[in-house]
Amino acid sequence: ADEVAPWSTTYAANPQNAGEPTPGKRARAVIVALVRNSELDDMVHSIKSLESSFNSRYNYPYVFLNDVPFTQEFMDTVSNFTSSETSFGLLPKDHWEIPEWIDGAEAEIARNRMASHGVMYGGSLPYRKMCRFNSGFFYKHPLLQPYDWYWRIEPDVDYYCNLDFDPFRFMEDNGKKYSFTIALTELPRTIYNMWAYTIKYARENQINTTLLPYFANANGDYNLCHFWSNFEIASLEFFRSDEYESFFQYLDSSGNFFYERYGDAPVHSLAAGLLLRQDEVHYFWDIGYRHDNFFNCPLKTPEGKQHDKCSCPETVNGRRRVEKPCLGWWKDYKPKTWSVQDYDRI
Ligand code: GDP
Ligand code: MN
Repeated sequence: ADEVAPWSTTYAANPQNAGEPTPGKRARAVIVALVRNSELDDMVHSIKSLESSFNSRYNYPYVFLNDVPFTQEFMDTVSNFTSSETSFGLLPKDHWEIPEWIDGAEAEIARNRMASHGVMYGGSLPYRKMCRFNSGFFYKHPLLQPYDWYWRIEPDVDYYCNLDFDPFRFMEDNGKKYSFTIALTELPRTIYNMWAYTIKYARENQINTTLLPYFANANGDYNLCHFWSNFEIASLEFFRSDEYESFFQYLDSSGNFFYERYGDAPVHSLAAGLLLRQDEVHYFWDIGYRHDNFFNCPLKTPEGKQHDKCSCPETVNGRRRVEKPCLGWWKDYKPKTWSVQDYDRI
């Protein structure tokens, strides 16, 4: 029998899906979703929305990833909703499973404690594996190796605007490395030690940064702001850099993806804070987007002119959009430098 590599594609690209990409210089870019077989309908919903907002005109390929093999039904169905190439990959076990150096009993106690405090996903082990995978492994998957850029999508999200530009090309042409549409505050219990580790890492590695202060409140603590990573358009090169990898390894070695519930969103955000400048992180005001009850949808340009490219809902699940403080702070942020001597004061 043929040897099958543990990460091998479980399904070849749909041969019918050989859509002609829009002519012109394209980015080496991919749309990527980590998703469960049980989320098929919600995944189709997201694909339809992204296709009509953007990708039916650009035909960027999709990669779907899963910790268990995709069902034939899943692969056939999602491939029917795009004319782009679709590929389906299995995760290597060591990108997903709880590492053997984690104390299983301690991790279980931590989950039970967090669940008893009513923290969302506080008691879930798979959720923690997912967050760790999205923090330190997705960019290592063989199916992503041909690409320089990715757009992360999730089941049951909406894209509200007609995009008449290519966000990948925008990123590439403007020196951007990371982007977001929604910025929120994290639940403190899930990342209790993350800020302390980040400052310690910055001190030990003598990192000069002009963006990390965005994430600090007046007394130098973490303000809990993070870019919501269920939407991301970003550089794979950034994640594959030695600097990012070393920061991830440092956080991972704390065991706190399991003893706390480190989310991939604050990990990505604080890594950007350490390693990028503010002008390398882009707020896509013009990409209307919803995940859960939160959404970004522009009726005006940042200059206050009428913007007619989006169909924005009045409310989502009965809630009006709430202006969250993190985006305001982002717009008001004036880069200031932190270097070694500053970390000692924090
Ligand atoms: P939330 O957005 O924080 O509420 O978390 P989700 O449940 O939406 O999970 C985030 C992403 O990871 C989604 O795209 C899910 O489909 C995916 N995901 C979460 N857990 C698993 C899992 O155990 N297996 C797989 N294959 N995907 C998962
Ligand atoms: Mn989600």
